[in-house]
Amino acid sequence: METKILRVDRTNPDLTVLAEAAELLKSGELVAFPTETVYGLGANALDAEACSKIFQVKGRPQDNPLIVHVANRAIADTVIKSWNVFAEICMHFFWPGPLTLVLPKKTQVPATVTCGLETVAIRMPKHRVALALIELTGLPLAAPSANLSGKPSPTSADHVRQDLHGRIKLIIDAGNCQVGLESTVLDLTGKIPTILRPGGITREDLEKVLGEVRVDRPTENQAPKAPGMKYRHYAPNGEMLLVSGSKEEVVSRILKETQKAHGNLKKVGILCTSESAAWFHDLHPELLFVLGSENLPEEVAANLFRGLRLCDEQGIEVILAEGVEESGLGSAIMNRLQKAAGQKIIRL
Ligand code: AMP
Ligand code: MG
Repeated sequence: METKILRVDRTNPDLTVLAEAAELLKSGELVAFPTETVYGLGANALDAEACSKIFQVKGRPQDNPLIVHVANRAIADTVIKSWNVFAEICMHFFWPGPLTLVLPKKTQVPATVTCGLETVAIRMPKHRVALALIELTGLPLAAPSANLSGKPSPTSADHVRQDLHGRIKLIIDAGNCQVGLESTVLDLTGKIPTILRPGGITREDLEKVLGEVRVDRPTENQAPKAPGMKYRHYAPNGEMLLVSGSKEEVVSRILKETQKAHGNLKKVGILCTSESAAWFHDLHPELLFVLGSENLPEEVAANLFRGLRLCDEQGIEVILAEGVEESGLGSAIMNRLQKAAGQKIIRL
């Protein structure tokens, strides 16, 4: 299959390009499109056959449900059976934005989308191109991240091309994603709102308007409520070690691990904050990637997946990543880093 890549302006997209994409989606094809979090692989969420293509193309496990993207309340009403007061508050404060709500689904939402669950995950992206595309189709669009399952999520159209070239008809390119991390997934079906996956909207943000908010932390022998969270994710090809703790200890451990890896003739990549980078120059790692300032977690979030993908592009064999403080957006960053490291984490 030939994959077309069409470039549009982020704030003023060419409507003829979006109309072409909308036609493909309406006829049951897949289209990759930008959102503020990461690029999504879209399909008509009411078309089971189209949605099953998403699983095939990504190699996605059959029990990992999809997030449905909407552009307005009328489209949202085609998939949600009942709203509640938490949902109304969340929509008011955080939509459009990186917050996904889990709510009871309507029967017309195919089991392929929800993997047989009676609930559906839904969000309204804060991206002009995504919103205009959804509006043109008039449909809810199921859209997981547009990468091969297990790989770091795509934050540029080129990342999508690397993974899905030849497997889908169209990629809409609107440049880099601003947030760079996936949405927060919030379960609103119980008495207390519960975060199933940390993301762009923090627990602190949510508690300001909802009151108590729980974080689902599945124990080892308990299945996570967001089925997707159990899989190895975001994983680069190299062996990755996450090091967190006080600055001095982290720097000295990364220095030691770099020397060890170089001793074994391995290509080393260091992912660190701008505050630490100066310590690592003299070691001449094969890749020194500055994620951003430790005081600007949004900068770190926006660069994280690009850094992981760069490690693969440069054939890095050992990746040493500096941890960030686990509060606010830092919780979501650490969640992704831990998964990328396959839980190989040193806390000092
Ligand atoms: P992705 O689209 O790959 O970023 O992942 C979607 C995330 O949302 C995964 O962690 C899913 O397990 C989670 N999710 C989707 N639908 C539901 C649902 N109905 N209930 C709970 N979690 C869900
Ligand atoms: Mg994903």
